[in-house]
Amino acid sequence: MLRWSIATVSMGGTLEAKLAAVARAGFRAVEIFENDLTFFSGKPRDVRARAEDLGLEIIGLQPMRDFEGMPEPLRSRNFDRAERKFDLMEELGTRFLGMCSSVSEDSADDMQRAAADLAELADRAAQRGFRLGYEALAWGRHVRDWISAYELVCLADRPNLGIVLDSFHICVNKNPLAPLADIPASRIGLVQLSDAPGIVMDPMSLSRHHRCFPGQGDHPVDTFLDAVMKTGYRGPISLEAFNDQFRGAPATTIARDGMRSMQIAGETLDRNRVAQGLAPLHIGPDLPPAAQIGGIEFVEFASGSPGGDSFEALLGGLGFTRVARHRSKEVDLYRQNGLNIVVNREQDGFAHSFYLMHGTSVCALGLRLDNPEGALERANALGAPTYFGRIGPGEALIPAVAGVENSLIYFMGEKTGPRSNWDQDFVFETQEAPGALVAFDHFSNVLRRSEFLSWMTFYKSVLGLVNDPQVEVADPYGAFFSRVIRSKDGSVRIPLNIADGGSTAVSRFIDAFGGSGVQHIALETGDLLGFVEAAVARGVSFLDIPDNYYADLASRFDIAPEMLERMRRLNILYDRNRGGEFFHIYTSTFEERFFFEIVERRGYDQYGAANTPVRLAAQMA
Ligand code: MG
Ligand code: MG
Repeated sequence: MLRWSIATVSMGGTLEAKLAAVARAGFRAVEIFENDLTFFSGKPRDVRARAEDLGLEIIGLQPMRDFEGMPEPLRSRNFDRAERKFDLMEELGTRFLGMCSSVSEDSADDMQRAAADLAELADRAAQRGFRLGYEALAWGRHVRDWISAYELVCLADRPNLGIVLDSFHICVNKNPLAPLADIPASRIGLVQLSDAPGIVMDPMSLSRHHRCFPGQGDHPVDTFLDAVMKTGYRGPISLEAFNDQFRGAPATTIARDGMRSMQIAGETLDRNRVAQGLAPLHIGPDLPPAAQIGGIEFVEFASGSPGGDSFEALLGGLGFTRVARHRSKEVDLYRQNGLNIVVNREQDGFAHSFYLMHGTSVCALGLRLDNPEGALERANALGAPTYFGRIGPGEALIPAVAGVENSLIYFMGEKTGPRSNWDQDFVFETQEAPGALVAFDHFSNVLRRSEFLSWMTFYKSVLGLVNDPQVEVADPYGAFFSRVIRSKDGSVRIPLNIADGGSTAVSRFIDAFGGSGVQHIALETGDLLGFVEAAVARGVSFLDIPDNYYADLASRFDIAPEMLERMRRLNILYDRNRGGEFFHIYTSTFEERFFFEIVERRGYDQYGAANTPVRLAAQMA
């Protein structure tokens, strides 16, 4: 039966905790990795009973290593070893054993002998009603791609011996994917899925430490799955990700992320199949479609001090006007050209707790969606529950889901009038002053490394965002990675930034912020130089960029001397690519944890990553 499964090796913790987490995430099938049994204090039949209680089918035991092509006496010893695994399978109540291609120096480079060994083992397994699956490791001694593994399985030619198609081993060496569709389903023992970042590393290290769930990396997992399902294979599809961060995280989080990732893989598979005129497979429960995102309706800051503080001065300096006050709460609305910033100074409730934890910071984001109800159903189906805040009489009830560090993401309908959503809750007092900022360009999430993949899956599954390739930047105090998540129309763009320990800017932010969060918001203007001159006159302090940067800029780009001098005086950064030019600037950091970026794009669609090192160094000064 076609169903999602997960290998216990994908999570950390005890085997019992893993099984409970897997069941809670909605899986009904699990693959047991033998090492997990080694560390388990009970008997294998206790595992079977536990799995049964949780409604989990144990679809297989793995792995049997270094089996085929061995000289005597190792060959006989291997058959004895296999019999002991069969006994273990009997106790576990599973009928399938996963084997991987030998890496042993003793194994002969002889396909006929290897096939004879597999055939004999398959015959012994058949006597006990077991099936075998043979998988090519990308670093196997003689068999390291699916084509050779398939050849071996065909040579052995036993009805209870099939090939294991593991997307990692196939994608990492860029083996052909389309011909997978021609394998007869009867020759496939199991299908395993995982992803990996598109970084250059030897396949074994990449496999053992950096595998991740589909959609978290750069492998063509969707293309792989599409080809494999064309074979007519309708057995379990099992997640198998060896990852140091996963093993260090709570098993419940990883199992939930695994299920989210599978649901998206299934949704994409069916969409691709329908586009090719094939029937959808509905492997998991169908998800309500992701809503179309129309943009950011508001950004909300939690703040603690009464009005008139330096944060309010900063907003004013950037050209925002306080236009309205909340009817029943200590909440103000700042506005500029339709950009809404809410400042929440309530002394209890969600925003106040957030303020106590993190200081003045972004505590919520309101997204405009074409179908907020559908989006909420989708979020719930993906294990993201609805949050309803405390509301006063007559106030609009806006449902939300929890984002990074329990900040909130509100799901709002498209605007029907200029003030429709706001009039209900706010009393408007002032007209906004004309301003130069016209859009929320992007906002960065600074994350602990251990949370990075989890939040990527959240944004991609719950909000239906897509990702750009990973960017690596040298932080003056370590390494810094960034991957941009964005809506298809580009109206919402979120660079997810991570760094490894030490005193990188990201690490220092996490320390100062008391966790992950929004480190900066970028706002767009059509005339950055003019904007900065006006903002400086209003008292805004911008990050000082060293003169050396401008000398370097002059050597790299052809910029008119007067223009370069103006940029130097104003501390404006610059980048250019084939698309066009990019001007940007950063405000001084507010309370050591937050800053604004103002950008002007002239056909440029990136984020000025080349300037990140100078920005990070300046922020350290
Ligand atoms: Mg595998
Ligand atoms: Mg300067």
